[in-house]
Amino acid sequence: INDPRAAIEADRAHVWHHMVQHKPFESADPRIMVEGRGMKLWDITGKEHLDAVSGGVWTVNVGYGRERIADAVRDQLVRLNYFAGSAGSIPGAHFAQALIAKMPGLSRVYYANSGSEANEKAFKMVRQIAHKHHGGRKSKILYRDRDYHGTTLACLSAGGQKERNAQYGPFAPDFVEVPHCLEYRAFEQGHGDLSGADYGRAAADAIEAVILREGPDTVGALCLEPVTAGGGVITPPEGYWPRVQEICRKYDILLHIDEVVCGIGRTGTWFGYQHYGVEPDFVTMAKGVASGYAAISCCVTTEAVFEMFKDESDPLGHFRDISTFGGCTSGPAAALENMAIIEEEGLLENTSRMGTRLMGNLHALAERHAVIGDVRGKGLFCGAELVSDRDARTPADEKRVQAVVADCMAQGVIIGASNRSVPGYNNTLCFSPALIATADDIDRITDAVDGALGRVFG
Ligand code: PMP
Repeated sequence: INDPRAAIEADRAHVWHHMVQHKPFESADPRIMVEGRGMKLWDITGKEHLDAVSGGVWTVNVGYGRERIADAVRDQLVRLNYFAGSAGSIPGAHFAQALIAKMPGLSRVYYANSGSEANEKAFKMVRQIAHKHHGGRKSKILYRDRDYHGTTLACLSAGGQKERNAQYGPFAPDFVEVPHCLEYRAFEQGHGDLSGADYGRAAADAIEAVILREGPDTVGALCLEPVTAGGGVITPPEGYWPRVQEICRKYDILLHIDEVVCGIGRTGTWFGYQHYGVEPDFVTMAKGVASGYAAISCCVTTEAVFEMFKDESDPLGHFRDISTFGGCTSGPAAALENMAIIEEEGLLENTSRMGTRLMGNLHALAERHAVIGDVRGKGLFCGAELVSDRDARTPADEKRVQAVVADCMAQGVIIGASNRSVPGYNNTLCFSPALIATADDIDRITDAVDGALGRVFG
């Protein structure tokens, strides 16, 4: 098992990798990661990497090699490795309580294994509520252009990343798209004259226009990322969220916030929506919940939604929700330790501080590299959009964007780029280091980008 050549050969022969389009990992030698400590990773060739994307897809929030999480998982596994989620578990009860304490207004936690499954749960509840309480109307679920919600067919049906999704159609019915809220590209939506709160309001009003077009009595929910991740690190414009909340209340539409990326600290608050004073009806989360030490995701909802299912007259009502591994004991055991680490080490504060440094460094790079058209971010979740013409905001050529990622990787720094999902707009470099990042780590990341931009764009 420790023979690197045999592992590489077996990988080449038999492993069907996820995201095969993820260029840097497509090189001649499959880049198998072997070990991690803190912010650092070592691959199968022994090369050291500084990980600026927390495990490739913004997951390992508390860093690698946390013995205390591994111990908690091990202790739980030897005590009780499994019983179906229809029964309770001690870590499951404690983590739900700890989580709800961070989420005023919400009260019930449904456990699953992945972000996709948590989102599916929310989508299914919306459909069930439509049947139970609205005579089958209000079954439509609105999603936003450039947002992403997961790998299942329903999640892809709610996916605003057209190029990637087209191959999977036909999609589940009654998923309807609303426009994105990327201020830098407002001019492409005919809002070139608007900025700040004026644009924020217009972008939210565009959601209302879709609701009115579809008929408010047909729309059950609106599902949004607080900060759009893979679609290009899109931070919401000022004034956007309060107006979104107002629209949802006006038309009795449930607000589902997908915190799979932002949840558990990524943006410097426990949840991304908490920056904007929003009161959601569903919050889904996954990646950072246990930082990749165990598979766990959650769909959290209000007591009001829970009440709608409580007096279930149909005895088979919940039957479809018995998932074998949802609520498995080791997931909440890991999640409890993960949360304790964030609290004890002050990682939310560190995230805000280091996020400010990262944004500052990226803005400084933008002064020297005309190819950086826009810098966006919240906490340790930042992006730099590359353009070939600053005035026209023409997206930079994707191959050159990938060349920057590859150059950084050659320097031993793993960064990301928006994931080839939106035709022509996979031009945003993405940074999401672990919440433990130090000032030196941040500077090393942006130094690598500085060198790479110079070499690739001259
Ligand atoms: N929502 C968002 C915002 C995501 O970024 C992802 C994963 N990249 C998902 C949902 C799906 O989560 P998972 O891969 O755990 O199913």
